[in-house]
Amino acid sequence: MQKEYNEIIEQATAEHKLEKDEIETLLSCEGSTLKLLFAAADRVRRTFMGDEVHLRGLIEFSNYCQRNCAYCGLRESHKSLPRYRLDTAEIVAIAGAAVPLGYKTVVLQSGEDSAYSAELIAVIACRLKEELGLAVTLSLGERSEEDYRLWRNAGADRYLLKHETADVELYGALHPDMTWENRKKSLYLLRELGYQVGSGCMVGLPGQTLSSLAKDLLFLKELDVEMAGIGPFIPNPNTPLAKAERGSVELTLKMIAIARLLMPQAHLPATTALGSIDSKGRQKALVAGANVVMPNITPNKYRRLYEIYPNKICLDDNPAHCRNCIGGIISSLGRTVAEGAGHSPKEQFTLGLG
Ligand code: SF4
Repeated sequence: MQKEYNEIIEQATAEHKLEKDEIETLLSCEGSTLKLLFAAADRVRRTFMGDEVHLRGLIEFSNYCQRNCAYCGLRESHKSLPRYRLDTAEIVAIAGAAVPLGYKTVVLQSGEDSAYSAELIAVIACRLKEELGLAVTLSLGERSEEDYRLWRNAGADRYLLKHETADVELYGALHPDMTWENRKKSLYLLRELGYQVGSGCMVGLPGQTLSSLAKDLLFLKELDVEMAGIGPFIPNPNTPLAKAERGSVELTLKMIAIARLLMPQAHLPATTALGSIDSKGRQKALVAGANVVMPNITPNKYRRLYEIYPNKICLDDNPAHCRNCIGGIISSLGRTVAEGAGHSPKEQFTLGLG
């Protein structure tokens, strides 16, 4: 078996391709083979993405959501959660304060909140780009083609829409009133509109198998994402999955490492969720293929209310403290904080054709 693992890792390192059964085999590797997998992913990361780590400043600007995803603390049915919305001036001020800390990209994230019209989001994206010179990622869930087009024309560079799970049955069970077909359609639409597309999945969802996880990686590869966020499932006590087991750190790291072998030019974040279940989780991800960190720059008074999952790290830290802390983590690994905007290294984006 040892030889088989090694051959698969070597082949994936050279060709960036794997069959579904090969992915499942790698997802079950252990011990010295696991070390080989992480080392191979780290090498591919260094070859294709360098030693720089990109920081994306996350602004969680509204915790309202009209959806009811079974795993999420922001779900509409969680009636006791105090809700908040930030206005344009607050969002621009938060982003403005991040510029002197060295941020070149902000991610505007919210629940699916139709209180923000498409036009308002377009104005905000445009101001962040033109007044502050920031690259803008939007992460606002499923919206219409017209909305996505308007925001792209307003200058939004990237869109993050996690697919969560590519297991069609599991997707249906976790997402009442949503369909896998529509999720997939939205992601391909974003691709057609020229966004740098981010997607991703959770690891350890109840009912998820190694076969489901292999489908996640193959879907990300098929979509040819510019960013893939892979984090552990963490049960939230205010959801129907309150009593489910959380996802494993090791399996999440394997998913990140295999994603790096399959998609050498994708940006892969060391997620906050991983850091929330393992104090060294982000460091481990950064040496298993990851090259991005997304520090939260939302004001402290709102952070606690954006509780997709419980016990999130950094709830009491301010943006300057987070920036120093992350900078320390990155330099302790012999890496550097990237100075550019961190666009996808794919030619169509570096040449401005995206
Ligand atoms: S995962 Fe997103 S869409 Fe689903 S309930 Fe949470 S915030 Fe809303």
